[in-house]
Amino acid sequence: MAKILKKTKIIKVDADKCTGCRTCEIMCSAFHATPKYSSNNPAKARIQIITDRLNNKWLPVFAGEYVPAECMGKNKYIIDGKEYDECDFCRVVCPSRDLFKEPDSGFPLKCDMCEDVPPLEEPMCVQWCINDVLTYEEIEEEVEEEDALKDIETKVQLLIDKYGVKDIVDKITRMTRDDYQEEVEQPEVEIRLRSLVDQYGLDYVKDIIERMTQGGSKKEAAAEQEELEKKLHSLVDKYGLEYVVDKITRMTQSG
Ligand code: SF4
Ligand code: SF4
Repeated sequence: MAKILKKTKIIKVDADKCTGCRTCEIMCSAFHATPKYSSNNPAKARIQIITDRLNNKWLPVFAGEYVPAECMGKNKYIIDGKEYDECDFCRVVCPSRDLFKEPDSGFPLKCDMCEDVPPLEEPMCVQWCINDVLTYEEIEEEVEEEDALKDIETKVQLLIDKYGVKDIVDKITRMTRDDYQEEVEQPEVEIRLRSLVDQYGLDYVKDIIERMTQGGSKKEAAAEQEELEKKLHSLVDKYGLEYVVDKITRMTQSG
């Protein structure tokens, strides 16, 4: 299958510059508090500084995906005279360690690049790291179209299941307008769709949503029509056909 271009947001880490101040942890947890900035708890941050004070070792690591099993191969690494084990570099949330888990519930945390409405210019940890350890970048890479399709369809389907076909189609249509501005009514839809559009391009994402929802839109329209007919039948049963027709005629005449 063909390849397509995908834009990805990344944060580069220059670990040698890190002093272990942990401001990044504080700001990440404050940004993700509910309500926002109402509290901070570094244990809930999606970036953690792996620390070995005796060896002057500070290594910022970002929370990645959850995996249900621990890995099989673990090695020691010596870099610039400092010893690291493989778990130090690992971003996944796994059963072996408590890293990147909600302290109370154990719920996995994942770095979401501080996605917000309106979007931040740079993620919080990057903005607040005064030592320039963290650098925000957008890179472009070629990916298999099959993987891109699967990624888009899975994420769009989750939104459709939660918000319905109509909201998602309306939203992507509004996004194509020149005067479109971020909307805050459904922040999750705004953030998820914008993230896909940023990665794969508006036209590509819109085409896939249209393909996915054509059947769904027709089904929703048929269901609405059925509902309307049921309501009309019940009004006719209750008030009689003549009265209902007369009422509708007067309503249409009065505009
Ligand atoms: S804010 Fe920067 S210097 Fe401080 S701990 Fe985080 S990455 Fe290291
Ligand atoms: S990018 Fe945002 S969510 Fe990710 S670690 Fe930094 S502050 Fe936390």
